[in-house]
Amino acid sequence: MSCNGVMTKSETKCYSCGEAAPWTVKQKVRGKGFSKVATVLFFASAGLTICSLFSDHTPPVMVCVAVTLVLMFVKSSADQLGKNRT
Ligand SMILES: [Zn+2]
Repeated sequence: MSCNGVMTKSETKCYSCGEAAPWTVKQKVRGKGFSKVATVLFFASAGLTICSLFSDHTPPVMVCVAVTLVLMFVKSSADQLGKNRT
């Protein structure tokens, strides 16, 4: 802390200098949350790909496969990011 102010855990920033509390900064680490979102999107898109094989009301199969592949790549790199952080 730049001002050595005393802060309780319930405070998110210093009332005298406005600096963010160390524990709120830590919570902002994105890796894990992003990886979770990527995983959900990946499975949603994989499900849509399977549906598109049987239905005309979904985007073309090739589009779904492409999106799934991209999300698979995003998911794996997000996982890697989370691992490196911890
Ligand atoms: Zn302060």
